[in-house]
Amino acid sequence: MKQAIRAAAPLTLFLASMAWPGAAIAGPDTALSIDHLREKALTDSTAWKLVEQLTTLFGARPAGSPSEQAAALWGAATLRDMGFAHAAAEPFALETWEPGTYFATIVAPNPQQLVVTPLGGTTGASVEAFAAVFPTYAAFKAATPEALAGKIAVVLEAIPRTQDGSGYSRAIAIRMNGAREAAERGAVGYLMRGLGTQKERTANGGAARPEKTPFPAFALAPPDAEQLGRLARLGPVRLRLSSSAGWTGKSRSHNVVAEIDGRDPAAKAILVSAHLDSWEQGTGAVDDGFGIAVVTAAAKLVRDLPVRPRRTIRIVWFGAEEVSQPEPVNTFAGARAYAARHATATPPLALVAESDGGAGRVLRLAIGAPENGDLVVRLRSALSPLGVSVLAEAPRAGGPDISVLQATGIPAFRLFQDASSQFDTHHNANDVLSAIDPAALSQNVAAWAVSLWLIADSEDPDPAAPR
Ligand SMILES: [Zn+2]
Repeated sequence: MKQAIRAAAPLTLFLASMAWPGAAIAGPDTALSIDHLREKALTDSTAWKLVEQLTTLFGARPAGSPSEQAAALWGAATLRDMGFAHAAAEPFALETWEPGTYFATIVAPNPQQLVVTPLGGTTGASVEAFAAVFPTYAAFKAATPEALAGKIAVVLEAIPRTQDGSGYSRAIAIRMNGAREAAERGAVGYLMRGLGTQKERTANGGAARPEKTPFPAFALAPPDAEQLGRLARLGPVRLRLSSSAGWTGKSRSHNVVAEIDGRDPAAKAILVSAHLDSWEQGTGAVDDGFGIAVVTAAAKLVRDLPVRPRRTIRIVWFGAEEVSQPEPVNTFAGARAYAARHATATPPLALVAESDGGAGRVLRLAIGAPENGDLVVRLRSALSPLGVSVLAEAPRAGGPDISVLQATGIPAFRLFQDASSQFDTHHNANDVLSAIDPAALSQNVAAWAVSLWLIADSEDPDPAAPR
């Protein structure tokens, strides 16, 4: 069956190298072969089918939920059917959090309903109090306990739209730490402007520091944050917050794994990844069904070539990326479970990568390899038709889940995407299939496919050793 599948692949690819696989990327037809792989990737429908099926069959996939579990089992079967080796869903224990039912409303001067979502990992309660409103997080941080005691703290800072996503990265402490900082100074609740750039009335949720002490904490939809700000400038505002959000007990999540066995057992492996779980409001199409589809479709294109890559390629769909764990407080439970389970796996990992940067086009590949070495020269030539530049420098942060593997000393490579629109749908109800531009999806698949082939086939014993 394997032979039949391979025979169906376009045999013009790497034909000259079949007799001597070691010469696969050094032969005279290299440029042509890479061109074929890139062009095939641009018209391949695998990624779209994957993200469409994932988001349609399972909808939202909160970490540890029945939908995330069902999606993981489907994922392992799908990867097996696609011809990958060693496909499996590897379970790990997880405490689950649910948003419950909730509302936030202005009580006075006149009743108005607010669009909110509870911050992930917080525990709800019902309170009514006057608002202490701050235009920025810095102003909130500088507030005295007297200014906050008995009040609902409200932080209205907006994030700017940026191509590199730095507007979000700089503001993430507002969501991660704000509720706890408000509680510590005697506030009775916390509201923040959701970390999004959309105009629509949907609130951008996401993880805060896990907390089992009841303290209602919400993100506001950006238009609702602006409304509250205008009202607060006119006089005192009284709010009522109520939520049943909280920790619901022990469950299981899974990492879905599969491989393309490399042809050189002595060569270190490459790991490519994305995360399967999502927040509950949308269907996790952009975050991170897009990433799942891109890395899987790119790996499938490489798998279907007539020559196996020199290095083993491991595909991982991480579970439970989004919500932190309470006891002990921890992030990236799936990546931690993977690192523990595969610490001594052979071959060891040479490089890790992750696609979890929205649904924008790839702008740049960063990899720690010699500036004028073969690998970088080949990557530049293969990626430039896609509008992707190559930076011969290892990225400091490769991605959220793989930060766990990077912390053990394994270097990353990264395909940086245009993040200009990422925070229009990030962790809100707009994160659905229609938010994905099929052309940008194809461009991602093509960039990943040629990068994956060239990196995994590199003759360099350790192409991305830190230097
Ligand atoms: Zn994500």
